[in-house]
Amino acid sequence: MSSVTIERVETVPLEASLDEPFGYAQEWVTTRTALLVRIEASDGTVGWGECWGPIAGTRETVERLFAPHLEGQSPDAVERLSEDLHDRGRAAYQSIVPLPALSGVDLALWDLAGKLAGVPVSRLLGGARRDAVRAYATGHYFRHDADLDEQYADIAAEAEANAGALGAVKAKIGLQLLGYGPEEDVELVRRIRQAVGDDVTLMVDANYAYDAGTARTVGRGLEELDVYWFEEPVPPEDVAGYAALRDALDVRIAGGECHTPWEFRHLFERGGLDVAQPDVCNVGGLTAARRVAAMAREFGVPVVPHVWGTPVAIAASLHLVATLPGRPWLEFDRSANPLREELAGTPVTPDADGRLAVPDGPGLGVEIDPAALDRYRID
Ligand code: CA
Repeated sequence: MSSVTIERVETVPLEASLDEPFGYAQEWVTTRTALLVRIEASDGTVGWGECWGPIAGTRETVERLFAPHLEGQSPDAVERLSEDLHDRGRAAYQSIVPLPALSGVDLALWDLAGKLAGVPVSRLLGGARRDAVRAYATGHYFRHDADLDEQYADIAAEAEANAGALGAVKAKIGLQLLGYGPEEDVELVRRIRQAVGDDVTLMVDANYAYDAGTARTVGRGLEELDVYWFEEPVPPEDVAGYAALRDALDVRIAGGECHTPWEFRHLFERGGLDVAQPDVCNVGGLTAARRVAAMAREFGVPVVPHVWGTPVAIAASLHLVATLPGRPWLEFDRSANPLREELAGTPVTPDADGRLAVPDGPGLGVEIDPAALDRYRID
């Protein structure tokens, strides 16, 4: 064990406003935010992590509940530290374990441990199976101030462009945000299928826009359009709805970005998922995501993590995906996000085959640009 200790745990809140809001089933997105966690060791080595969701609350949890426990400890035993924090969070908030706060700290601890050991995090996670990962494009959000025909045309054109680069795209449905119904949702997917052609892998994400009965009807429409998976058809707490839809439909049922590790267990035991989508910034970090992946493997369910963040979230997800069996994808968000494009100096870019390289430097392998941090930091 080295003599290096954890010296300081801090948060860095970031916010970038968008020129044009975009929408999905639940809301309009007007700003992109991130809460980064920065852990500095006594030898000056720095690890970075990222927390999902609102800054308020999570920031205070990291700084006031978790930081005092970590400072002065050896950074070697990442999983023990992460479990300690989980239990402190449970003792403080009982069933509402603060998983986004835990996630950001956990990722920063893995980054720090990798840097101190001089190896990529994927090696610490058991070893990479691949040095690059195929990616699918997330985007195709609803346009602000556009009528229905413009929605169909603009979104289909965006999907066609992304399909050309990556070969796999995910459409958003849930036009309820604009006052439309499930018929318009299926029509939107039909227009996208027409635009991208029959050979492109097309996923669909409802962000839990429906009750189970409506989702069944929509799912039958999606099956006729050769949709690869139907993501978050119903609210995350409706485990029975997930299981019933998986029984009733041929299209794969995907979900998990809102779920905790123990909720994944319920979903697997009830047979509710064809594809599991834990988010490393939300489920409890790489420690928890790896355990969910192990559970998924026992139930024969492939894992394709949910990713919607900065280069820190993308890199951590790439390290996880690098270790997974099968042919996993990386979710590659193409919607507007200056933080994603600028925080690492240069944006993450797919190769000519639509694949993203797994970082091979020590830790998560992300260099944070201090100028970009200054540009978007809020207090
Ligand atoms: Ca989603």
